Amino acid sequence: MDSRMLIKNIWRYLTVIINENIMQYSKTISLDCPHCNTKCQFIQIDASHHFCDRDNLHHIAYVCTNCHGVIATKWNANTKDSSNFQRNPSGYNQQLKIYYPAVGDWKPRVKLNSIQNEDVKNDFQEAIDAYNNGLFNSCMMMARRAIQQEMIAKKAKGSNLYQQIESTGISAKLKALLHKIKNFGNNGAHPDFCLFDENGDKIDDKKGFSKLSLEFLDRYFANEYEIDSLVASAPRSEKEKEGE
Ligand SMILES: [Zn+2]
Repeated sequence: MDSRMLIKNIWRYLTVIINENIMQYSKTISLDCPHCNTKCQFIQIDASHHFCDRDNLHHIAYVCTNCHGVIATKWNANTKDSSNFQRNPSGYNQQLKIYYPAVGDWKPRVKLNSIQNEDVKNDFQEAIDAYNNGLFNSCMMMARRAIQQEMIAKKAKGSNLYQQIESTGISAKLKALLHKIKNFGNNGAHPDFCLFDENGDKIDDKKGFSKLSLEFLDRYFANEYEIDSLVASAPRSEKEKEGE
């Protein structure tokens, strides 16, 4: 299942739960916490209430009193005015419509625009989105897809991804990085593909693996694209001008 499907399914699941239990607005609410997977009390975060003109819903952030994880909530109401909404909890037909964890904040160091191939860039972006939404297997699969996309863009030769990576003219160090991303992708896709530490002990750290996938990809793109664009835009000598 790709990460968009997974997000859609989670979304549908949460909507069903919420539609079955219409919740009235309060500064403290009780919900199943998506971070610690426990039924918890949540407290509204001060000044986080705003009416969104895009979806016509009230957006409010709450924090879990058990694990301190933050969630975003969206509420229906008959008023756009957030101060009225809060002063009169029962008078405006407020209903909790949806809630989900606030997204993570992993950002690439490489400028995404320096990745010229749109398909490669989109796959990298989707891997980042999956990580930031806590979808770690999806993140690793998307990171692997990004390198496969990259091999297609480079017209790499070979019948599998390993051979394709080996067939490119990139440095041995960058090849090693890409092989690691491929391994993480296999771990994300196949329940029986395990990874081990230097002592041979099995590691099962999906969050750590997916973060490494992103960091390795980030490093690869920086080397492969950003240096080229830095060099291309740097001042040139007389001799370099003649060579252009
Ligand atoms: Zn929690």
